[in-house]
Amino acid sequence: MMEAPKFVASCSFGKDSLATLLLAKEHGEPLDEAVYCEVMFDKDISGEVPEHRDFIYGRAIPVLESMGVKIVVLRSKKTYVELFTGRVTKGPKKGMIRSFPICGRCAVQRDCKIRPLQRYQKTLPPGTVQYIGIAQDEKERLLRLKGGRQVSLLEKYGYTEQAARELCEAAGLLSPVYAFTDRGGCWFCPNAKRKELRHLYDHHPDLWARMLELQAMPGKVSEKFNRSQRFSDIDAMFRKEDAAQAA
Ligand code: SF4
Repeated sequence: MMEAPKFVASCSFGKDSLATLLLAKEHGEPLDEAVYCEVMFDKDISGEVPEHRDFIYGRAIPVLESMGVKIVVLRSKKTYVELFTGRVTKGPKKGMIRSFPICGRCAVQRDCKIRPLQRYQKTLPPGTVQYIGIAQDEKERLLRLKGGRQVSLLEKYGYTEQAARELCEAAGLLSPVYAFTDRGGCWFCPNAKRKELRHLYDHHPDLWARMLELQAMPGKVSEKFNRSQRFSDIDAMFRKEDAAQAA
């Protein structure tokens, strides 16, 4: 007998995906599980900003499970450090260390996020519906939804990004990362904004030091952490700021 289609929510534990889960429960929408893919820095350290990771495992998952939501956690076998330290196998840069992921073509996203999710999706019954956390005011992203199979409950119930945030706040399910950023993502992301990097520098010197270690490795394809700077340039910039403030 063919397995019945499932209703599966994609979940990053950001405000839009959590508001989607809250709306599904509030309105009695069918929901079999919420799927989350955790990118890892190395075998032991999550790629999530530590405050977000603590929120996910210490707060969000227990609350959602108490509401009857099944959470599926996926992780790729590959990590950021493995991708970083992997060597180019052909072409003029053969033998060099692959180094930092490229802005706009992030190999971490491809290998550590999209692939595990695609692999998981292949195990779901045909006709499975995916709830995606796209707000009513994100018109362009809504247009990209694959009709019928991908559904935005935020659109269905008229929730803007701000309304999604308020819904999470009221439920005590707003990640603390929103205190210093408005975007989710890995703490080593080349798209990280200045204030996110400053947060990492100020509050997570152990992680900061790991990035400086990687920056110092010889034989890399590129020295650039993002479009314009080496990680060591950013480090020097923050040190200079601190010194100016202390003077
Ligand atoms: S958040 Fe940044 S580093 Fe992480 S997968 Fe996405 S683009 Fe890559």
